[in-house]
Amino acid sequence: MKITRVEAIPVRQSSTIELINDSAQDGIIIKVHTDEGITGIGEVDSAPWVVKSIIDTPSSHRICRGLGEMLIGENPFEIERIWEKLYVGSTFYGRRGVVIHAISGIDIALWDIMGKALNLPVYKLLGGAQRGKVRAYASTLMPYTPQEAYDETKKWVEQGYTAIKLGWGGFEQGNREIVELVKASREAAGPNIDLLFDLGFIPSDDHPIDAASRMALVKELEPFAPYWIEEPLFADDYEGYRKLAESTSIRIAGGENETTRYGFKELIEQGGVDIVQPDVTRCGGLSEAKRIAQLAHAHHITCVPHAWSSGIVVAASLHLVTAIPNGALLEYCVAETPIRQEMLLSDVTVKDGYAEITDKPGLGVELNEEALEKYRCDR
Ligand SMILES: [Mg+2]
Repeated sequence: MKITRVEAIPVRQSSTIELINDSAQDGIIIKVHTDEGITGIGEVDSAPWVVKSIIDTPSSHRICRGLGEMLIGENPFEIERIWEKLYVGSTFYGRRGVVIHAISGIDIALWDIMGKALNLPVYKLLGGAQRGKVRAYASTLMPYTPQEAYDETKKWVEQGYTAIKLGWGGFEQGNREIVELVKASREAAGPNIDLLFDLGFIPSDDHPIDAASRMALVKELEPFAPYWIEEPLFADDYEGYRKLAESTSIRIAGGENETTRYGFKELIEQGGVDIVQPDVTRCGGLSEAKRIAQLAHAHHITCVPHAWSSGIVVAASLHLVTAIPNGALLEYCVAETPIRQEMLLSDVTVKDGYAEITDKPGLGVELNEEALEKYRCDR
């Protein structure tokens, strides 16, 4: 089997993009076509037009090549060799950031092709199921007032989730407001629901963000027993992460903005986080996410992939979490955008708080071509 064509299709919701922390307002769908009629799909949660350029650009020289061009004629089953080829062939302008994001979408599509060709679900190709079912956490934005935080938490508890994450939004206020929001959320959830809080890391003049102020804040949050505190510091502040992680018994999670095994090595070894959150559409794809999960496993820490875009990232993450020994939860993005809700004919379903994995070949999902046509923004 040979790869014949790579399509990178940017999509965007019809309504105006809001500058909130909802990355499911736009996206980019990747299609990798083969000479045997099998097409693999993937996606990238990044800046869609930049990703498209990285895939479509012609080569400039030996190690400054467009990703699409490097794939033509390759055997999609040779995933590891292709990954290294793309990484090395883009070294001059890549190594981290958007180039790795773009490689991620291609890598996911290659796993989808392999599964479809062999009639096997991706989790079996990744090594088989380590668990029969995966607990899903409802992932949503934190509202701005305690009453809204209470109502939002209640809403997902009532839908059967036993773990809920609230992030950004209202957490961009001061420490006093953050404590009130967390308190309201815990009151709504009761003692038995796991609450995950994604604090965000954007400082303002009256809301500085550094290890010392976060240590004081996390101390105040301890009585509300968060399951984890996510990305409380800027992604480059490994030293701050270590200080914070050592100062509290609450798990510190991070890594959605990290790419490659090399980036995660720093985050784990220098940052000392308790949970790593590689995003399979950003960290280097399913291949790299598996290597990152193995690295985390060698340090006895848990890997819970970040997933906030269309249903493709949710499905790909579910396959990964099913197949890694140190997986624990699936991030189930409940954003109500057309990109999140309409790009697939059928989404991963969650029942009684658990995500259901299918044994359909590949990722087990089918693109909604009508929605793709409706929201594509490249013509
Ligand atoms: Mg996050």
